Order: sequence, then structure tokens, then C-alpha cells
Amino acid sequence: MNRLQKLRHKLIEEELEALLVSQPENYRYLSGFTGSSGWLFISNDSALLAVDFRYTEQASRETADFEVIQVEGELTDWFPKLALNSGAKGIGFEAEHLSFATYQQLAEVVIVNQYQLQLIPTSGLVKSMRIIKEPREIELITRAAELADAAIDYVKSIIHPELTEREIAWEIERFLREGGSEAVPFDLIVASGPNAALPHAKPTGRIICPGEPIIIDIGARVGGYCSDLTRTLCLEKPSETFSKIYDVVLEAQFTAINSMKAGMSGSQADQLARTIINQAGYGEAFGHGLGHGIGLAAHESPRLSANSSDLLSSGMIFTIEPGIYISGWGGIRIEDMVTLERDKIKVLSKASKILS
Ligand code: ZN
Ligand code: ZN
Repeated sequence: MNRLQKLRHKLIEEELEALLVSQPENYRYLSGFTGSSGWLFISNDSALLAVDFRYTEQASRETADFEVIQVEGELTDWFPKLALNSGAKGIGFEAEHLSFATYQQLAEVVIVNQYQLQLIPTSGLVKSMRIIKEPREIELITRAAELADAAIDYVKSIIHPELTEREIAWEIERFLREGGSEAVPFDLIVASGPNAALPHAKPTGRIICPGEPIIIDIGARVGGYCSDLTRTLCLEKPSETFSKIYDVVLEAQFTAINSMKAGMSGSQADQLARTIINQAGYGEAFGHGLGHGIGLAAHESPRLSANSSDLLSSGMIFTIEPGIYISGWGGIRIEDMVTLERDKIKVLSKASKILS
């Protein structure tokens, strides 16, 4: 079954006659269309890709299964008529993506015109398909992971205590792009010393110093698919605090990688690493979840966190990224991408974790 057929099965299960897809990664996943604005309208007998003038040529080149139609104006200007003409009455929309304002405007058009249409909020229909990766997707993610690995080796060869965080971030981005990455999937993080206490720090003009933690969190993109990798580096000899915390984070990650199994929930997986960090006395300093799925988006399902009920299963790709952050001192995070393959974790990223 192709992706469109699988989705149609889901529509039947959900008792929906049609679905409007507006979330960019979701419409790309189903149709192949990579533009930043478009909609899919999928019913049992039609598969339409609606775009405005800017994207008609591109859409025709990129999609095989969908009929491309050119639309004009806002969603409210063309969608209700299109839906009516399709004959479908119960139409699902992506509640997590369509804005409340747009929904209200659509609902008003339907009421004012007395259209026999019902707009039904749906959640996670395409997301639940994207969560399990096909072999081709695993291949692209693996290539993106290899690029990130190479960038870590590269940065280790050029890093020295005169560079600023921003200069290092730019060197890495240049390396990734020249190595074949598309636009990087997120703003690369280079955070040194006290800045490393911010899990999502922005690179600054701060000059890196010996002995302090330098968190480098980077990703590449190949064929639309992302990688996500973090290493914490240290120039010259790490301080005692550094070594101690580094060992705790590494052990937490190692334990999670070795004990995780298919069938576990995201919260059980998170707990594996969190227990180690709690026991070392740093529980409060690990304030984010253990990891997240990765694919067309840098952050997608499954979620590995204290309150996640997502169930882990073979074919998923996600990160395992414990971290400890101490205000005023800095932080340490180690992040790898893994896949669940026949019940066992296989680590995709290869960059060394040995401090040199
Ligand atoms: Zn990351
Ligand atoms: Zn991540």
C-alpha cells in the first residue's frame, strides 16, 4: 500500500469522508510537494493538491499521485465550494495545525451559506504514519546523521581558544552545506561556559575558553530528512566538575540505550536515564525530556519524556539526549540518534564521545 492508500484506510476507520491536510511536513509526506504553502484534499475518489500560482509548476513536477489545482485567495475563498463539489459532508481538518481564526472563518462561511458541510477536528492521522520509517527514509536520515558526525570531527580539528561561539557555528554550517546538506533543520547551537546552562542557547560573540563545557548541537538535512546530534567538548583539561557531570550524563545515555525495548512507553524510556541522573543528585538539573522522534521535522513523534504515553516500536527513529544544566557554570548534553530494529536499539550517530 502506498501512503495515500494507507491514509484512506485511516479515514474509513475514523468515519471521515475526506481530509484537509495543511501541515507542511504532512502534505510533503503524502504528496511529495515541498513548497511552503499548499493543501491536500483527500477523499475516497479524489486526491487534490491545491496551491497558488507561485507553486503550480513546482507542484506538478513533484507530485505523481495528486491532481494539482490552482487556487486563489484565502482558504475560505475556495475551500467550502471545493468541499461541496466533492460530495463529501464530514470533512476532517488538522486541529493541531489549522489556526482557530481560520477555522472560525470557515465555520462562518458554512453557516451563512447553509452549506451541508461538517468540519471535524482530527489529530495525528498523518503523524501516526510518519512515526514508522520506511527503508528509504532510514537511508536519508542515516546520510544526514553521517554528515553531522563528520561535522563534529571537523569542528574538533579546527576548534581553538580564540574562536567565538558564532564563528564555530558558522564553520559547522558551512561544512554541512558544502558536504551536501540542504538548509540546516534548526539554528545550530554552540554554547560555551555559562551559556551551556541554556539547553537551547543561541550562539553569541563569546570567546570559548579552555576547561569549560562547549555544547555543540547540530543537524543536517538530506532529501528533506533531518539529523540531530549533540556533543559537549572541552579544550585542554576538563575541570573536576566537568568530568564528574560528563560521566553521569554518559552513563544515563548508555543505560537508556542498553535497556530500551520495543513496547516501552516514552515515559518508561525517559525514566531509564532520569533514574541515573537522580541518583547522582542532579535530578533537578535535567529539566527536559530524554528525546524526540526525527524525520521530515527535527522534532516529531514519538516523544520520550516523563509524561509521554507514546509506545516505542520497531522502525521508529528518535534521539536520546540526557543533559545536566547548572546556572552560572554551564551544562553537558550528549545526544545520539537511534533506531529501534527488531526490538533492539541501534545507534545511528557515530561521532566519538571521548573527551580529547
Ligand atoms: Zn539536538
Ligand atoms: Zn534533539
